[in-house]
Amino acid sequence: MERRVFSIRGIVQGVGFRPFVHGLATRLGLSGFVQNQSGQVIVEAEGEGATLDDFTASLRRDLPPRAMIEALTWRTQTPLGDRGFRIEVSSSDPTGSIFIAPDSATCRDCLRELFDPGDRRYRYPFINCTNCGPRLTIITGAPYDRERTTMAGFAMCAACQAEYDDPADRRFHAQPSACPACGPQLTLCDNAGRAIAADDPFRELARRLADGAIAAVKGLGGYHLACDAKDAAAVGELRRRKRRDEKPFAIMVANFEIARLYGDISPAAAECLVGPQRPIVLVRKRIDPEAAQVAGPVAPGNRFLGILLPYTPLHHLLMDACGDRPLVMTSGNRSDEPIAYDDADAFARLADCADVFLVHNRPIHVRCEDSVLRADDNVVLPLRRSRGYAPQPIALPFACPVPILAVGGQLKSTFALGRDTSAFLSHHLGDLDHYEAGLSFERDVRLYEDLFECVPQLVAHDLHPDYASTRYAPRRGVRTLAVQHHHAHLASCMAENGLVDPVIGVIFDGAGYGSDGSVWGGEFLIGDYRSFRRAAHLRNVGMPGGEQASREPWRMAVAHLLDAKVPLTSLNGRIAASALKNAVTMLERGFRSPPTSSFGRLFDAVASLVGLRDRIRYEGQAAQELEGLASAVADCGCYPFELVATNDLIEIDPRPLIREIAADRTSNASPAVIARRFHAASAAMIAAVCRRLQAQHGIDRVVFSGGVFANALLTALAKSQLEAAGLTVFCHRVVPPGDGGLSLGQLAIAAHREADEN
Ligand code: ZN
Ligand code: ZN
Ligand code: FE
Repeated sequence: MERRVFSIRGIVQGVGFRPFVHGLATRLGLSGFVQNQSGQVIVEAEGEGATLDDFTASLRRDLPPRAMIEALTWRTQTPLGDRGFRIEVSSSDPTGSIFIAPDSATCRDCLRELFDPGDRRYRYPFINCTNCGPRLTIITGAPYDRERTTMAGFAMCAACQAEYDDPADRRFHAQPSACPACGPQLTLCDNAGRAIAADDPFRELARRLADGAIAAVKGLGGYHLACDAKDAAAVGELRRRKRRDEKPFAIMVANFEIARLYGDISPAAAECLVGPQRPIVLVRKRIDPEAAQVAGPVAPGNRFLGILLPYTPLHHLLMDACGDRPLVMTSGNRSDEPIAYDDADAFARLADCADVFLVHNRPIHVRCEDSVLRADDNVVLPLRRSRGYAPQPIALPFACPVPILAVGGQLKSTFALGRDTSAFLSHHLGDLDHYEAGLSFERDVRLYEDLFECVPQLVAHDLHPDYASTRYAPRRGVRTLAVQHHHAHLASCMAENGLVDPVIGVIFDGAGYGSDGSVWGGEFLIGDYRSFRRAAHLRNVGMPGGEQASREPWRMAVAHLLDAKVPLTSLNGRIAASALKNAVTMLERGFRSPPTSSFGRLFDAVASLVGLRDRIRYEGQAAQELEGLASAVADCGCYPFELVATNDLIEIDPRPLIREIAADRTSNASPAVIARRFHAASAAMIAAVCRRLQAQHGIDRVVFSGGVFANALLTALAKSQLEAAGLTVFCHRVVPPGDGGLSLGQLAIAAHREADEN
């Protein structure tokens, strides 16, 4: 006989972990107990050594769906000869956990009960259990228990309390547990908040949607605006009211079978679609004759369609009432505002957008937008890591010597808290210059610090002096550390891939503040978490009009044409002569034309040169459309470029490429062919520079980071060339390659600088 004392840390409280241990031990005939203790679970188990080995293996392997073990250690003890296995609830049982699970899609068991007429929660829109339901979005403080969630105002009925208290029940210590007798209630109302009488609010709403109405639907982390995705007039009206011209809308469909009618769904995409995080998955639109089609204005000019499946019981009931009709599900806001999540605010801001509101009285505390990922070609690429993922800890390949807060960037912002070997990356907060987003940022930083018992002693921020996050950092009154933007991108990709040794970082994005004060964005860095050296970059050109140039690709076309001494004739007729002249003057005089090495801006220039787009309606649009064009044709050659080395710094000269594109335009080559050749050239640049750096420095590991690497075609082309040359390429799979992943990199760098100082 042997007795083992296990100590287990991770997401092990409030996720059905103790009932799982109880069941497992009982099945194996072990005796002992399981108990929550400040932030960890203690298990004492007694039995045969071999059985205990099975038990130990199974603890790690057969976890309940929402549990995650961060650390499991055990030691042996003298056997005590106790009988049976029990769940011990000590008097000081801290129900709170320092690891909070993310919000999670309705589980299979709850779904079965939801549609079972014999169940007491039949068609109850707030059914949940320890394996599913709201978490982050309803938490108001630590430790995590019902009192510190937005469920605090709902007293459990006797039946719910009995389940909550029963260790063998699926709802044992399920904090948001509720039923029709005691929990939140749903209301269908008009846009003035007056209740609409209906026997079944879901059928009534479905009927109105089928008639072309636009609805505001209160979800898990905020409000959605919804309409019939097959009704072009309704979708067009939604765009008009929401003031969103072209940015694609996502659709929600009732189930996976329906999703397959609309999109080409790779196995990886399928896994993401049905997984408990339920992100929006961007998949290729099906174009074959059997395919189902959404209305044109849902995702105009886009070969991708964002699809998501229902993730709360409310969504399941709504989609059930809609049958096989897909709904547009877009964030409840106008243009680029943060999503509405507070009821009063939603009615104030969305009354002009929505004809009808589906609301409920369970408050949302944390505004949390849908996560977005790309999963075509079977490669998963996170674009926005938010609901369903945050605040799942990311395991770090190092330890933080002190608690650290990394405040991230400006747009697509997230922050990260580092403690021990875990990083807690926040949900998506958006553009911090929005007043509302700024407020949420400051409040949610404090909330995370509270939840994860983390009092930061060091705050890492971007080098950019004008980011709202940079201005926030010193206000915390602790030491601060400025981290260069592209170094943070490099460290972010290293950290999520568990890398430690120096790498070649290919960091391509739109703009980041360079160490020399200029705008960087086409960078090759050699470095690790501690330091970096800029080894190569795209040749600088001016951005005529500054910021305006990032919204008007034609300006970058002018900059590159001028630099390559190519006449601007191709832009004549499309751009007003006076505007062209103005841009040229600014560039020639270096007036309001900050130099940039941005690769994102080169994509913009090319998008304009091929006649695709001179102005963009949303960030990244030109590059996305250029990739779309290029993906439609097969390999058809590559444009030339030059590498110029001076004093250990390589400059990539794209002027030969610009001249060839102009020549191709003159000879009427198709935009798709030009786009494809440009992608091939970009990949060839990456390969040529990396091979040279590999030879110079003996480093054969490469990380790809920065927003440009949301481009799957460029990534695939460059990766295959590098691999053929014997290099290993690491890409983002956990956090976004864009600025949403920045905070993780800042955190990693701060942790190492701090360790070096002590
Ligand atoms: Zn459940
Ligand atoms: Zn109840
Ligand atoms: Fe960036």
